Amino acid sequence: ATPTALMAGVGRGAQLGILIKGPDALEASRRVDTVVLDKTGTVTTGRMTVTGCHPVAARTAGEVLWFAGAVEAGSEHAIAAAVVAGARAEMAELPEVTAFQALPGLGAQGEVDGREVVVGSARLFAERAIELPAEATARVDAAHAEGAVPVLVAVDREVAGVMVVRDVVKPSARAAVTALREMGLRTVLLTGDHETAARAVGAEIGVDEVRAGVLPAEKAREIEAMRAAGARVAMVGDGVNDGPALATADLGMAMAHGSDIALRSADLVLVREDLRVVPDAIRLATGTLRVIR
Ligand code: ADP
Ligand code: MG
Repeated sequence: ATPTALMAGVGRGAQLGILIKGPDALEASRRVDTVVLDKTGTVTTGRMTVTGCHPVAARTAGEVLWFAGAVEAGSEHAIAAAVVAGARAEMAELPEVTAFQALPGLGAQGEVDGREVVVGSARLFAERAIELPAEATARVDAAHAEGAVPVLVAVDREVAGVMVVRDVVKPSARAAVTALREMGLRTVLLTGDHETAARAVGAEIGVDEVRAGVLPAEKAREIEAMRAAGARVAMVGDGVNDGPALATADLGMAMAHGSDIALRSADLVLVREDLRVVPDAIRLATGTLRVIR
């Protein structure tokens, strides 16, 4: 690519909301045959809200919010922000948390009022061997079936309740996936979320494949495995979780609202929240390079 043509590509990209970080990015975009999409914050808006709080046994909804809100105040995850907002809407003050620990891809834990509080996914509770009463399991299954996230709350290893957190699929996601498929690209949804919830979202947007339950550290390995199998992979993501995967992909695309790590690891930064910016970016590369030759 000549410097002049590259400059033209960079200028056209800026108009489309695509920031090109290096000279190799356009060439890499042209070769891509697989597009991997992170779910939360990329395919979905990432603006989550609590839509339900179901106490278990003798607990009240207020207690569940009180404990969960306190622990999640220490976490940076979009789910945590929703839980904190949900708790603050109901109560003026949240108690302090000590011994806080983020559990990436799983949840968080801490001590509140002298009690050990664990907040997170069914997978986390299984790993901790915290037993779920039947009513909690029913709430978890119902949330997964709807593509929502169940957030389990345990106090001193006893399930206190299940909160339901919901995220909205971007209105542009289905059109973006359709465009990518029409361009002959394979589309894959990659997420740490539960299989059933991920499949619900995958079906809604029409991707070719769903890979769910992928822990943050495994995302890069999934990309590496696809590349080893001969695929030329573009990865689109936003989270702290996505940094290594973006760096491993042939082409990393970070949503501009994303974490510093995601932005630093990517080749392209996507300034438009509209997901059709992804097919635009790949078309831009093809178009630019066609002019050059
Ligand atoms: P994604 O890959 O979709 O961006 P993550 O890997 O960050 O998702 O998280 C995977 C799952 O772990 C979430 O769907 C949720 O069930 C659980 N989880 C992660 N962090 C938290 C948290 N702070 N509070 C509650 N649940 C969490
Ligand atoms: Mg994400």
